[in-house]
Amino acid sequence: MQDKPKNVRCPICRKYKYPTEDHIPPRSCGNSQNTKYHFFLTDYIGSQNRTEFISQGGLKRRFLCSDCNNRLLGAGPDKELGSLCQTAAKAISEKESSLTWEGDIKQIIVAALGHILGAMHYDKSLPAKEMRAFIHKGIVPEQSKLFLFLYPFHEIFVVRDCVAAPLKPNKQSILTEPIGLSGMYFYPLAFIYTEKENLGNGLDLFEIYQEGETKITLNIDSWSNPITKTVLPADWPFHLDNINDNLDSGCMTMAGAAGGESISTIPQSKGVLIKIHHKNGTLTNPATNELLRFK
Ligand SMILES: [Zn+2]
Repeated sequence: MQDKPKNVRCPICRKYKYPTEDHIPPRSCGNSQNTKYHFFLTDYIGSQNRTEFISQGGLKRRFLCSDCNNRLLGAGPDKELGSLCQTAAKAISEKESSLTWEGDIKQIIVAALGHILGAMHYDKSLPAKEMRAFIHKGIVPEQSKLFLFLYPFHEIFVVRDCVAAPLKPNKQSILTEPIGLSGMYFYPLAFIYTEKENLGNGLDLFEIYQEGETKITLNIDSWSNPITKTVLPADWPFHLDNINDNLDSGCMTMAGAAGGESISTIPQSKGVLIKIHHKNGTLTNPATNELLRFK
């Protein structure tokens, strides 16, 4: 449910244009079901009451101009991201222990950053400027990384300019101090944009791109703590509904204006799509044991 569109400043090209409906993630990644969502940081901070919206035919937002939506993202990057999603989903359904995909890494990065920007109003925060510089000029930000994970949950999160602070950090935590982040999570991938050097099992796409590589390899247990081998919560590294003792849970605050527009979907059917079972506190090898289960 959004206001009738008038000309707005496009978050990618910065021109004032008539906004078009952008699927986030793109339709090439299977985002076509009616979807309930809410602005979780605004609700979380401002009120106990959750205001829910319904987006028909997939999660959509209306900020991008037609050129950026259909020509810039739709022409190449969305197709490339769709191809990576298909490979990832196939690896999961065929119970592989890892997946390897080959293609144009730059297009994957442009698709991820483009839709992260496209989910919210135009703004002038540093991450937004860096994302635009990569999309338009291929400039890799000096201090930011874009981590890619295999993401085994139904939820979709689109997060901008937030800070995640660990609640109970210890030697086994991935986060030991607060980090700034933006990101986009959806089955079967998660992208996290942050200044942190390393982030769990995340694969830094900027590094792969700069090295001229064309291959992405992800383990099936990508979304887990590399030390404890436990699966991370769907909302990691924030801390929304699932109050638990997970040492990787953190609390989340807004660091920029766009943070208030961070979206979380409300899954119609709860639960993970893949379950990674634990034996003696470690993940057993999914390739050799019957470990993956499907809803
Ligand atoms: Zn535009």
